[in-house]
Amino acid sequence: MKKQNLTWLEIDSKAFSQNIKTIRKLAGKRLIAVAVKANGYGHGLQEIITLLKKERIEYIAVHSLEEATRARQLGWGNSILVVGYIQLCDLEQVFRLNLDLTIYNSETVGSLGKLSDKLGRMVNIHLKIETGTNRQGVEAGKLKKIVSLIKKYRDLHLKGVSTHFANIEDTTDHSYANYQLGEFNRLAGQIEKLGLKPELRHTASSAALLLFEDTKFDLVRPGIAVYGLWPSKETYLSYRLAGGSNGILKPVLAWKTRVIQVKDVPADAFIGYGCTYRTSAKTKLAILPVGYSDGYDRSLSNLAHVLIKGKRAPIRGRICMNLMMADITDIPGVKLEDEVTLLGKDGKENLTADQMAAWAQTVNYEIISRISDLIPRRIV
Ligand SMILES: *Cc1c(COP(=O)(O)O)cnc(C)c1O
Repeated sequence: MKKQNLTWLEIDSKAFSQNIKTIRKLAGKRLIAVAVKANGYGHGLQEIITLLKKERIEYIAVHSLEEATRARQLGWGNSILVVGYIQLCDLEQVFRLNLDLTIYNSETVGSLGKLSDKLGRMVNIHLKIETGTNRQGVEAGKLKKIVSLIKKYRDLHLKGVSTHFANIEDTTDHSYANYQLGEFNRLAGQIEKLGLKPELRHTASSAALLLFEDTKFDLVRPGIAVYGLWPSKETYLSYRLAGGSNGILKPVLAWKTRVIQVKDVPADAFIGYGCTYRTSAKTKLAILPVGYSDGYDRSLSNLAHVLIKGKRAPIRGRICMNLMMADITDIPGVKLEDEVTLLGKDGKENLTADQMAAWAQTVNYEIISRISDLIPRRIV
């Protein structure tokens, strides 16, 4: 018998390259750093790097040293911007892997500076400044001190200065983003007055890239848009109200599995743990081998649908660790090992990450990034 996957993800290479084209248009002449953290937003770091190698992309942005290491092992030869934190004891790896490091602590500057002296190697750093998100970033009051520390080390090259917006995707009111942009310009100006001239200013993730010309500067850092999803409904609405056209982003990911049992259940029977669902009539179920440990959120219990033969089959009962049950009473002819779509298109039907996020009361980012990295990915 032909070997086939039981559960798998399909990564649509055509949709991906269309999104890259869209992003390139939005970015104009600026450099692009594609965010591939969290296993390429759940799409698979290996698959996304394979696709990115075919594009003219200067940078990938990763969170951790582990991701950077893996990206190099996978043959990513262009630049890597680490946006997370690397422990002081691991900083030598920054040289070995030739990474651009986001910095916001004087301890990191000191350790990295001493290492660069010792190794006689130059290193690119990007100073992240606090503009009001109050996440990573050097506070305005500490800017002068960290800049003079950077200047002490000949081989610390301040290549970039960056910040991250708190409130573009969550609202159609962009006054806070404008305030942060003002702070960024003011503080970046201070850095120049102190004698450093970073060539790459960068602030824009997908929402800013889609909505604000003034945030694009020299490099943009899109993530979610590369994978064909809008950062939020508000971002989509703002983009459309500004005259932007529909359908510029194409979802890249589909999540599929197969029926592992077809079962007849009588009326008044309970389904699953906790007896949270009771049939009102004779019911046919398809048992599916995916559960919350695979990243299919338990809050989708008795709520979500899956697609079988192009039709919606509602989830009955609680999502289990590795299993779930779907109602196929009105879908005739379902057989063992038939294909099931958990996320994506089947015929005219489409289950989007946005729809799943609405059901689970979260954001599309969480739906896709939590899909287990144990599930095989397949580029189609
Ligand atoms: C994840 C991330 C991005 C990308 O954000 P999207 O909203 O997915 O476009 C950009 N910059 C930083 C610092 C990030 O951590």
